[in-house]
Amino acid sequence: MPWIDKDKCIGCKICVKECPVNAISMRKGKAEIDMEKCIRCGKCHEVCPQEAVRHDSEKIPLEVEENIKKTKELMKNFDSKEEKQAFLERMIKHFNKEIKVAEKTINEIKKWEVENG
Ligand code: SF4
Ligand code: SF4
Repeated sequence: MPWIDKDKCIGCKICVKECPVNAISMRKGKAEIDMEKCIRCGKCHEVCPQEAVRHDSEKIPLEVEENIKKTKELMKNFDSKEEKQAFLERMIKHFNKEIKVAEKTINEIKKWEVENG
């Protein structure tokens, strides 16, 4: 999913005009994407002269950092070594579940692409 690097955006509004579903608006001189409206067409990424529309994959390190931070915060709720260890195992299960959801979703989409190709 696309996102705007506010440091790079110069507020030219080209993406606003090009978005087919009016998902982009301006806030304080910078473009902003309404993810509820965005249909992931990639047009904004193509037309931005500043390369301010970035790909989701660039957020992976940030999301990992957030997950680690959240896990450390939640771990503070447990006192004993055993409780902390059990909690960590539950978190690992949770993230493993996320992997499985993504894998199964990708497999279903791939099948769908073949059927409609
Ligand atoms: S096209 Fe790029 S620089 Fe122009 S408003 Fe959109 S994101 Fe900002
Ligand atoms: S990806 Fe397409 S629909 Fe989404 S904000 Fe960009 S131009 Fe609009």
